[in-house]
Amino acid sequence: MAPKHGAQLLESTGLSDMRGRALRDLRISVTDRCNFRCVYCMPQEIFGRDYQFMERDELLSFEEITRLARIALELGVTKLRITGGEPLLRRGIEELIHQLAQLRTVEGHKPDIALTTNGSALRVKAQALKDAGLDRITVSVDSLDDAKFQAMNDVRFPVARVLDGIAAAQEVGLGPIKINTVVKRDTVDEILPLARYFRGTGHILRFIEYMDVGASNGWVLDEVVPSAEVVALIDAEHPLRPLEPNSLGETAQRWEYVDGQGEIGVISSVTRAFCGTCTRARISAEGKLYTCLFADSGHDIRGLLRDGASDREVSDALSGIWGRRDDRYSELRSGLLSDGKPTRKHIEMSYIGG
Ligand code: SAM
Ligand code: SF4
Ligand code: SF4
Repeated sequence: MAPKHGAQLLESTGLSDMRGRALRDLRISVTDRCNFRCVYCMPQEIFGRDYQFMERDELLSFEEITRLARIALELGVTKLRITGGEPLLRRGIEELIHQLAQLRTVEGHKPDIALTTNGSALRVKAQALKDAGLDRITVSVDSLDDAKFQAMNDVRFPVARVLDGIAAAQEVGLGPIKINTVVKRDTVDEILPLARYFRGTGHILRFIEYMDVGASNGWVLDEVVPSAEVVALIDAEHPLRPLEPNSLGETAQRWEYVDGQGEIGVISSVTRAFCGTCTRARISAEGKLYTCLFADSGHDIRGLLRDGASDREVSDALSGIWGRRDDRYSELRSGLLSDGKPTRKHIEMSYIGG
């Protein structure tokens, strides 16, 4: 039986786009830099020594981000996710979390604040993030095999340190932790060891179909492993059954182990598009608003913030952009490929935030 998924989950109260989708999630990229060079995200050939990252004054300040988040909450956003690049590289990131958490003192606002990280600095940062008011954390782990993990991050970073970062997050009370794993045809062997490792820990392992984000990872359709294959592989060893979605617009389909050892999720943006319930907007580190992960351009919000626009003007700008939103790239993808390759350029994931 397939889990419930689709338009029946849609609520069309408040601000709504051209397809009746509300604005609920704001993903905020705080840096385009990263200490990893994951081959599918920031390949060394492109993101080498000469790559021009954003200058510090181009980045939205914490005050600008917090103001924007407050205005977005007034428009119906309930979830804030800090991402990047690698968000823990942004100096003082816990101060930003603290400022965002202060928005909870505004009547009627209870934003859920989450962060996605490669986990490399988590041992050092976990306590400060928790103290600042972070609710939840997602850590990306693509393999448990150290040699393979080091080859995937391409900077020889050992997997043990990421696992230790996950333990640190658990110790300070940031659990249960979501673990993101991108699956490609050449990484299928990582699936079962990861499932065995995280089963019974309370952490939720989520397998993400490899996506054609950016223009530098050389994505081809043949490298995508359909989530159904991932579920079948795990189910054959440890039987699974579907779970209902937790919330409106949830990207992952949830499955639980029949023997009570926890749950996994699959994010099937290629084989089972979820654009119909997509309530997510993204803001790049330099303050451009994107209404789709696959958009080819964004809307400059930083200019408004720095030119003295009032809250009302910023709010009207956001509403106008969202009201004109008609994005549904993943639903249209198959018709836009040529020989299994994308025909248009997309914004890099490290820029727009995953
Ligand atoms: N650096 C942090 C991290 O790796 O968790 C946050 C940013 S990263 C861009 C966010 C998520 O996007 C990660 O879980 C990463 O694995 C995922 N990602 C990056 N490129 C991807 C791709 N081409 N397809 C699917 N997921 C991708
Ligand atoms: Fe960095 Fe995350 Fe991209 Fe890997 S997936 S290169 S850790 S931003
Ligand atoms: Fe949302 Fe765009 Fe992804 Fe569809 S393709 S789910 S509209 S971000």
